[in-house]
Amino acid sequence: MRWSRYFIPTLREDPADAEVISHKLLLRAGAIRQLSAGIYSFLPLGQRVAIKVMQILREEMNAVGGQEFDLPVLHPAEIWQESGRWDAIGDEMFRLKDRKGTDMCLGMTEEEVFTTIARNEIRSYKQLPQVWYQIQLKFRDEARPKSGLIRIRTFIMKDAYTFDVDRAGLDKSFLDQREAYKKIFTRCGIEFLIVEASSGAMGGSESNEFMARTPAGEDLIVSCASCGYAANLEKATSRVAEIVDEAGPAAPEEFPTPGVRTIEDLISFPGGADANRQIKSLVYFATIEGQQRPVLVLLRGDHQLHDTRLADSLRATAVRPAHPEEIRNLLGASAGSLGGVGAKNKTRDLRILADSALKNRRNMTTGANKDDHHLRGVDIGRDISVDEWFDLRMVEAGEGCPRCENGKLDVFKGMEIGHIFKLGTKYSESMSATVLTQDGKQVPIVMGSYGIGVERIITAAIEQHHDDDGIIWPRSLAPFDVVVTITNMKQDEVREAGEKLYQELQRAGLEVLLDDRDERAGVKFKDADLIGIPHRITIGKKVAEGVVELFDRSTKKTEDVRISDVVTYVKSMR
Ligand SMILES: [Zn+2]
Repeated sequence: MRWSRYFIPTLREDPADAEVISHKLLLRAGAIRQLSAGIYSFLPLGQRVAIKVMQILREEMNAVGGQEFDLPVLHPAEIWQESGRWDAIGDEMFRLKDRKGTDMCLGMTEEEVFTTIARNEIRSYKQLPQVWYQIQLKFRDEARPKSGLIRIRTFIMKDAYTFDVDRAGLDKSFLDQREAYKKIFTRCGIEFLIVEASSGAMGGSESNEFMARTPAGEDLIVSCASCGYAANLEKATSRVAEIVDEAGPAAPEEFPTPGVRTIEDLISFPGGADANRQIKSLVYFATIEGQQRPVLVLLRGDHQLHDTRLADSLRATAVRPAHPEEIRNLLGASAGSLGGVGAKNKTRDLRILADSALKNRRNMTTGANKDDHHLRGVDIGRDISVDEWFDLRMVEAGEGCPRCENGKLDVFKGMEIGHIFKLGTKYSESMSATVLTQDGKQVPIVMGSYGIGVERIITAAIEQHHDDDGIIWPRSLAPFDVVVTITNMKQDEVREAGEKLYQELQRAGLEVLLDDRDERAGVKFKDADLIGIPHRITIGKKVAEGVVELFDRSTKKTEDVRISDVVTYVKSMR
């Protein structure tokens, strides 16, 4: 490819609206352009990278028996209604009507479509397992699209689905995909870790996220250096040091606390208590089987509730804090004076959940369900009818590892680049996709689903590989293997040597960009650094002695190489 003809609209300055590095550099390198919020066009350079990513995905999926499909992006609402996700998924789904008024949507994932194919075509265990995948556009109506290609509204995803006759089959399919994902990210030059994750709206029993560690990430990851435990914050648990309380009074004692509204207020209030001796009481509504149900959540005063943990524990599709008037109707007091003691006397069907860090605690202080009053001397086991105990608190850095004895947890930012789910029979049951087993029994097909975002891989690669001058593409993703830079187009000898080398490198099977623009050498070097081609061959004055300069983008080292050795040299550098 000749740079003089190739469309690479590079920018000298950082675009004002770009926040994260990958966004700035993709724009500056002329790889993408924004059409509208969360909607981007890939320009030729960006498209070359996307094609490389898709090819790696295809090869590794095929290597584990994957068969490539291409499914429609436009779906009838009917199949989503059958699976129950038409109602379970909220505003993130793009919905529309056709000219007859029939509800339709744009696909976010393809469980429903693949399950429809499976239920119509697969009858017997003999046809299983199947591994199906596609690489295709997906749509998600993000509330706040941002950070360039990280949170977007239309994107390319590789989504794979496995179909097995039983759990053991699913376990194997899941492991195959897990291994394939490891190879994919390794080939793409991305440093990643595999974490336990919440399954969220996908449903299912187990899921792993693949995370790239980067400050641009929007997820928080909890990990233990001692044993390798790693989990998304929304799934992570911890061990907190046990607190042994002194014995308290025989029954809770009410005391007036005028003006006390928060945990902090009560710490400094005369006769109050430290945060870890208080019980924090929060009222939530959880959507369970389509019904909103009130729950009272109890946590230690110095702990924070994690909403996703609450939703997962209740198997709720959504949770939200109750409004002040709802709280008053349920417990007869305002948010600053709530507590679990006697709460069921106020509202019978109020479900009380407590965080496990409160187990066996006594002589605690909490709200009295009466404005401006609290109770002290509360013994959780004795005074509060807790329905269920869960790990509901947000894990914090420095807490003990849940898996090993001495490990301390670290919390850092990461970006999700892949997510794999054991779906089980969630979709096959709701959509009646069954097969006959060897013993002649009709059973629901056991499914898994596995997704990777192409834009996420590109973004993660840049976040992890760049410097002040621009992108440093891993060779596997680079739009070109090498750029041949002719320093002076007006010198015949230099220009001709460049042209000749360009041809030779291409004949050797390399992807070459020839910088034949009528620009100063300095401008050419800057642009080549910015777009991040792994190797640059500079054709300058030394060509008279049969020597050219080889510049390595990642190490920034320059060396002289005989022009006759260049092809072998570049081929050997991976
Ligand atoms: Zn550990």
